[in-house]
Amino acid sequence: MSNKADLQNMKAKRRGLMVVLSSPSGAGKSTLTRRLLKENVNMTMSVSATTRSPRTGEKDGVDYFFVEKDNFVDMIENEEFLEHAKVFDNYYGTPRGPVEAALMDGKDVIFDIDWQGAQQLTQAASDDLVKIFILPPSKRELESRLHSRAQDSDEVIAKRMAKSEAEISHWAEYDYVIVNDDLDVAMEELRTIIASERMARRRQLWLSSFVKQLTQGG
Ligand code: 5GP
Repeated sequence: MSNKADLQNMKAKRRGLMVVLSSPSGAGKSTLTRRLLKENVNMTMSVSATTRSPRTGEKDGVDYFFVEKDNFVDMIENEEFLEHAKVFDNYYGTPRGPVEAALMDGKDVIFDIDWQGAQQLTQAASDDLVKIFILPPSKRELESRLHSRAQDSDEVIAKRMAKSEAEISHWAEYDYVIVNDDLDVAMEELRTIIASERMARRRQLWLSSFVKQLTQGG
């Protein structure tokens, strides 16, 4: 039988999760994602490419890779995206390379993508995928969060509110749904989901050799 350190080493050998977080804008997804990344060293964020302009404070290569439309089209043609979609009036896509590298490295990858991206990833990589939808507690709260964020003009906010209903209509395509009324509670729910998904038998690649040792009395 292996000692404690051996067991820890074996357990570390697991498939990385692809955790998709989708929500209408303003449901608190960015805050949850930020906290999650802070708590988990073995987790990384997929940085999308987009054709939209940076908002105040957003950094190229951190929040998004901000690219011109021609460049984005070239990336599609070169099959550089795991998935891509048009959201509002702009294009968004998940660069393939960094995600594959992180998963190979045994890291979990978080994706802040919309329902179209979630659908495409379901077809491409369903084994590693965990899809979580974040809902706001009410329509009024969603609107007030968009206003207090003060990053977008009234016109953009009105557009986002109109789109939120369409985004919410896809809630049933997700494995889990969190209603973000209280941030701490939502965070705890998110932790629980990820902890359980990491425990799924098919993701614990170490189990069969462990059980072999166990039954052979090693
Ligand atoms: P925002 O412009 O507010 O940053 O993002 C707008 C929407 O685009 C959000 O719902 C966000 O989840 C989605 N989005 C961001 N990156 C991607 C991506 O790479 N692929 C897809 N399909 N959607 C994305």
